[in-house]
Amino acid sequence: MFWDRESETLARPALERFQLGQLQETVRRVAQRVPFYQRKFAELGIKPEDIKSLEDARRLPFTASADLFAAYPDGLLAVAADEPVRLHTSSGTTGKPKAVFFSRNDINNSAELMARSLVMTGVTHKDVLQNMMSYGLFTGGLVMHYGAERVGCLVIPAGPGTSERQLMLMQDFHTTAVHILPSYALYFARFLEQRGVNPRKDLKLRKAFVGAEPHTEETRRRIEEAYGIDVYNSYGLTEMNGPGIGFECEHKAGLHLWEDHFLIEIVDPVSGQPLPEGERGELVLTTLRREAMPLLRYRTHDITSIIPEPCACGRTHRRLNRIVGRADDMLIVRGVNIFPQQIERILMSTPQVGPNYLIVLEGLDDMAIQVELASAGFDGQVEHLSGLRHQLAEKFKTELYVRPKVELVPAGSLPVTEGKAKRVIDRRSL
Ligand SMILES: [Zn+2]
Repeated sequence: MFWDRESETLARPALERFQLGQLQETVRRVAQRVPFYQRKFAELGIKPEDIKSLEDARRLPFTASADLFAAYPDGLLAVAADEPVRLHTSSGTTGKPKAVFFSRNDINNSAELMARSLVMTGVTHKDVLQNMMSYGLFTGGLVMHYGAERVGCLVIPAGPGTSERQLMLMQDFHTTAVHILPSYALYFARFLEQRGVNPRKDLKLRKAFVGAEPHTEETRRRIEEAYGIDVYNSYGLTEMNGPGIGFECEHKAGLHLWEDHFLIEIVDPVSGQPLPEGERGELVLTTLRREAMPLLRYRTHDITSIIPEPCACGRTHRRLNRIVGRADDMLIVRGVNIFPQQIERILMSTPQVGPNYLIVLEGLDDMAIQVELASAGFDGQVEHLSGLRHQLAEKFKTELYVRPKVELVPAGSLPVTEGKAKRVIDRRSL
């Protein structure tokens, strides 16, 4: 099913011609109106007329998170100060957030892309969508809301209310789809179980849209099995509309990123050099239709790769693989890029291993992984321990191209921290 078949299936040459026109227009506008880009263009000695092909985008300056923090509150506006109609911010860990402004057309476009994304998964006007994401400065609530309304769904703006109230709404208004954080979806499944509610029999739920948190394919499968529903992955960031800029279609095989609104590049996260299609690196996005606050070559810090093959659904907009991690978390060990999430995935798919582990980098460039054994199901026999150690070392070698030292430790022996777990200790003397 298509919301905007023509735009979604535009042949690549036409799509790329359209992208170039929009890129040139965006570059002209920021060169005229945004002092930050005027300075950058002057430093690099480039003019808007220099952008003659999509490859020329590589000559444009990057925009970093730090530039948005420095421009706070409205230093990157490309329209008059009274023109934007909405403000969103992205949560900084400390201090002031990043401010992102939307014009009326920007709001319209974000709803349009959300509508495309929902319909791509089979959502129709008959669906009842319970939006369990936070409404407010965070884009997850409002952008989904406007998109689902546009499709004609009954939208329940539940927000992140109590589980008790979520369940009441779901039962009384026959919710068929939810927009939810993956961690909350897992928690809510346990809540239903405790309440004796069988989602397959007692609810009308068919679909869930999950995003805003890094999660693995295993997590998706666990949610699908817990509810008996289809779970679709959503990608977005406040700086680029919020949710709905990348979404999975019915094939659940990568996130179609709407390329008539965004230009995609994948760069080496350290050097910033463009990487060949299909290679994994940092996602860099340029807005092609944004009015209030266009951004050139925005460093998302998200690590992924482009899937070059066309999708069976017929859409021509290329797909991104699941985000494997944040550039800030990347470890470089003996010249190999490794993300803690890759290590976690290997460990969590090994039943004899518990949930706690610690990555220790030491010496010249050595990696050791301390792994807690699962509390049950291990007989403590030395030969079984060395077999497990060997099995893990082989998996790391095959999947990550490194051979870390694996240390198995008893359950409960690694330090437990409040909040976000500390997984990496770097003591290298490089
Ligand atoms: Zn597809």
